[in-house]
Amino acid sequence: MFRRWLKLEDYCPNCGLDYEFATPDDGPAFFSLCFIAFPLLFLIVWFEVAVRPPLWIHLIVSGPLMITPCVLALQPIKGCLVASQYVNRAQEAGTDALWADLNARAKATREADRD
Ligand SMILES: [Zn+2]
Repeated sequence: MFRRWLKLEDYCPNCGLDYEFATPDDGPAFFSLCFIAFPLLFLIVWFEVAVRPPLWIHLIVSGPLMITPCVLALQPIKGCLVASQYVNRAQEAGTDALWADLNARAKATREADRD
């Protein structure tokens, strides 16, 4: 489903589904911050209060402990959000005509590029 790390393929390699509908925007970052970074912050605050480590320990331990899981979770979260968009046919209310117009324009551009 992914061409590169967070870049979606244009079409599903298995069934040919057009991923044009997939616009999770900054959703993966939001959910990564809410469900991973926020709980980890409590762990790091506990570490600071309980152990009182010097600042360089935080740079070595706390920084990677916060950043690594958040970054690694972005791709699976994006996959879940795209799947959720597809299953729920998610689209902003009242923008049907706008989306139809944009999709038609994008499709025309893609076909022009192909020729
Ligand atoms: Zn598919």
